[in-house]
Amino acid sequence: METKSHEQLHIFFFPYMAQGHSIPLIDIAKLFASRGVKSTLITTPLNAPLLSKAIQSSKNLGFDIEILVIIFPTEEVGLPPGCEIASMTTTHEMKEKFFKATFLLEPQIEQILDQHRPHCLVADSLFPWATYVAAKFGIPRLIFHGPGFFPLCAILGVKLYEPHWKVSSDSEVFTIPNLPVEIKMKRNQVPMVFEQNANLILSKLLKESRECEERSYGIIVNTFYELEPAFADHYRKVLGRKAWHIGPVSLCNKAAGYETEIRGMEASLDEHECLNWLNTKKHNSVIYICSGSMTNFSDPQLLEIALGLEASGMEFIWVLRREKKEKEEWLPEGFEQRMEGKGLIIRGWAPQVLILEHEAIGGFVSHCGWNSILEGVSSGVPMITWPVSAEQFYNEKLATEILRIGVAVGSQKWASLVDVKKEASVKRDAIEKAVARVMVGDEAEEMRSRARALGEMARRSVEEGGSSFSDLTALIEELRSL
Ligand code: UDP
Repeated sequence: METKSHEQLHIFFFPYMAQGHSIPLIDIAKLFASRGVKSTLITTPLNAPLLSKAIQSSKNLGFDIEILVIIFPTEEVGLPPGCEIASMTTTHEMKEKFFKATFLLEPQIEQILDQHRPHCLVADSLFPWATYVAAKFGIPRLIFHGPGFFPLCAILGVKLYEPHWKVSSDSEVFTIPNLPVEIKMKRNQVPMVFEQNANLILSKLLKESRECEERSYGIIVNTFYELEPAFADHYRKVLGRKAWHIGPVSLCNKAAGYETEIRGMEASLDEHECLNWLNTKKHNSVIYICSGSMTNFSDPQLLEIALGLEASGMEFIWVLRREKKEKEEWLPEGFEQRMEGKGLIIRGWAPQVLILEHEAIGGFVSHCGWNSILEGVSSGVPMITWPVSAEQFYNEKLATEILRIGVAVGSQKWASLVDVKKEASVKRDAIEKAVARVMVGDEAEEMRSRARALGEMARRSVEEGGSSFSDLTALIEELRSL
């Protein structure tokens, strides 16, 4: 039942400038556009060309989608010109400045909203102030949260009940209270840095983000109901949040009939070359290793990965954030020659979804960013979980204990993205063992069949009549009726 159908709904989308946040929100804007909504994406000059490419196929299909460029105040906060993507910040100081710059965007957003008066603003959770700016013009603000229902519930449980302060050591196990399923964690695995240092801008930001959640119109979650039904219900009914699940949004693209296109960055290798390489491999024989857009392992850690992979004897695609140099300390002597034809190293940006969807991929070593978890699930691929930072240790629990589609490599300790560069916490033997467990044997087959079943459910959820398709319809109708 549609009301006011004569007037086209116009929604502004404001993604945070980090690929893990912007990729899904761009997909969401395209998704709304495919349902007849006029979608405007707000972005900054450096991100604009990438974003233009990301929406091109949507435009080619005649959907009403455009971008609007604002200035990112690098100069005002003392960042180098063009430092407009979070992954470009390499020190704690730069990260603080980056957050500061995002707060300075408020007047520009206010001006845009005043001028265009859209029906709704969907902004990333890291822009808490957007709720208040939108309210000035009576515009409902929806929050886009990166993670799914399970991590959101777990984060809130830890925040509300502070079980991690009721144990006597960092390695003592505690149970997160009031969750529908018993989940045990250690203090080591939850990000305490924000509680211990309230002066950090990120601490302030996360606090404001939690507060504005209650004052916003609702929350859009990139997940599908069948993946985490108990937690979807818990989040809505017990924690009282108004939320819509409309993912996996990476699949929604496919459902809308888009060609494969740029996601986040230009791929560092020819996509056809990559697919041709995969085409020469047997089904489920290749392991894919990628730690997302932000995590950059130390040289000693990369060395352990190389040795673990080689010892496992498996074929692999390994994504690294290292430029090619004459001498590379992190590579074992002669590694690339020995791995010729057996392993493909991608230095820079990989076409991740394309790779994961290839039938040769049999396992995914992931840092457990929410998008990666969901993309792995959507492709029906079992995982080796290697959480590092953010909410990734919670996501690991979902994959290994609740969905049982992965094994943990044994990463023990939460680290900030800057500090992770100093460590080599996971050794080669652990990597070799985890790879074997996910790729061969009965346990691997069981995990693979559960992952496949979830992948099927994911696909059905975004098709007409599926749970995510229907929730998006409900959201659009509700916004139209406002
Ligand atoms: N990604 C990609 N190629 C890369 C690295 C990452 O396409 O080389 C994409 C990946 O598919 C996912 C996003 O970047 O959509 C990363 O988000 P995630 O939540 O997994 O991790 P984050 O980068 O936020 O830590």
